Amino acid sequence: MTNTKTIPATLIAGDGIGPEIMDSVVEILDAVDAPFAWEAHLAGMAGVDAVNDPLPKQTIESIRKTGLAIKGPLTTPVGGGFKSINVTLRQEFGLYSNLRPTKSIIPGSRFENIDLVIVRENLEGYYAAIEHVIPMDGDPRAIAMSGGFLSRKECNRIVRFAFDYALKNGRKKVTLVHKANIIKQMCGLFLEEGRKVAEEYKGRVEVDERIVDACAMQLVTNPWQFDVIVTTNLFGDILSDLTAGLVGGLGMAPGANISEKAAIFEAVHGSAPDIAGKGVANPLALLLAAVMMLRHVGRQDLADRIDAAIAKVITAGEVRTRDLGGTAGTKDLTAALKQAV
Ligand code: NAD
Repeated sequence: MTNTKTIPATLIAGDGIGPEIMDSVVEILDAVDAPFAWEAHLAGMAGVDAVNDPLPKQTIESIRKTGLAIKGPLTTPVGGGFKSINVTLRQEFGLYSNLRPTKSIIPGSRFENIDLVIVRENLEGYYAAIEHVIPMDGDPRAIAMSGGFLSRKECNRIVRFAFDYALKNGRKKVTLVHKANIIKQMCGLFLEEGRKVAEEYKGRVEVDERIVDACAMQLVTNPWQFDVIVTTNLFGDILSDLTAGLVGGLGMAPGANISEKAAIFEAVHGSAPDIAGKGVANPLALLLAAVMMLRHVGRQDLADRIDAAIAKVITAGEVRTRDLGGTAGTKDLTAALKQAV
């Protein structure tokens, strides 16, 4: 038999619900004979438990070599412990673009026929979290300051990424989302550079602008007017959870972190400790991330097959996980999807 697993890819199962949903995704990818030759590695809590390291060197080396990874969610300890591995991976591989598509799949949900993409700047902005406290009157934290930074170079390449993505994927319009009326420096630079880049795409892709608060309202009242949204780190994080909510919640929201060095695909949601180990997690967000990964390596055929299987199973409505109003477990949905692909 010829070996069909020709594309080396790093697999990080993650923690919490990570291993359950990753098993499901790998089974479905196997069912369509996806071309990935997996290199399984540890990160996060699983790394701490096994080798006392939340990001073992072998994991980094594997991604450096493959340039391609799928990652389950990783728990980040709150207020202490190790630094977020998600943020560390973004920095290590300069993953400046966070691509978060939102597409209606569930018939009869609050919004139908939604198909938009958020491109979020992933390295700078307020996530730089340059923070200080100023003591006063015996209170050591009387005043708290948190700032960010944004470089012209980064504004240019993230907006360019959004326009190139629009061109490559047959999308018509890019909306620059900002708060330049108040955050005049950081958002002002983003808007200035964004408009400059947009000029280069004139006649090929339409450009549009929104202030972030108005954009949030319009995403709820008329989301169909948006196609590709490009914005800074914090706004992108918030708006993409909002858009996930339009189409059934976090269980339906995939994402990709991309640079020239690597592409890491993941679900938008976290490790869901409240349902971990219960066999009820929805694997679709991670599966949709795997579909993005297939498209990334040029296997549109397999991506379309899995997309069609998801639409078929979800539309039939009998096998849905609890977050989508059903009673099916992760394994039931996996079995139904395997049969449908
Ligand atoms: P979460 O996304 O893990 O969970 C929020 C809610 O959504 C929970 O009620 C959970 O049960 C539900 N949920 C999430 N995914 C689901 C799925 N696939 N199926 C069914 N229900 C699902 O957010 P949280 O509780 O704020 O975070 C938990 C941990 O995950 C934290 O340590 C956080 O730092 C981490 N986190 C990691 C990532 C990542 O690895 N990319 C992203 C976000 C949060």
